[in-house]
Amino acid sequence: MTPEQPQPDQLEQARQTVENRLHLTPLTFPEKWTLSTQWHRAQASPAECGPVNPVEFDLLIGYPDTDELGDRHRVTFTIYQGELLAHCDCHAWTYHDWCTHVAHLWWRWSRNQLGVTDLDTGDVHHSPP
Ligand SMILES: [Zn+2]
Repeated sequence: MTPEQPQPDQLEQARQTVENRLHLTPLTFPEKWTLSTQWHRAQASPAECGPVNPVEFDLLIGYPDTDELGDRHRVTFTIYQGELLAHCDCHAWTYHDWCTHVAHLWWRWSRNQLGVTDLDTGDVHHSPP
């Protein structure tokens, strides 16, 4: 399944998913995030990434210099009301609002390797605005 041009009912369902999640907040980058270990790991590690629906991705990310993948995490990554919303179910995100998984999606997106759905228009963007 690809996130390309979601059907209207898919979009509506995705919007409801996002609206029901009060913890979803616009992504803010931590200070010196480009120097963070998460950002380094996000770029240098083996990874598997697949869309679950128009707003969520399943991610497995390993560590640099290994072939092993870490735990699977589900990441919300979507544009809603003009803001990029992000959320991950991992501990790092819970405590720091920043993690390797979200960093990885950002990395892919900035390299035109991820389709991010704009829930307001239904458009799928392949690079950050
Ligand atoms: Zn995470």
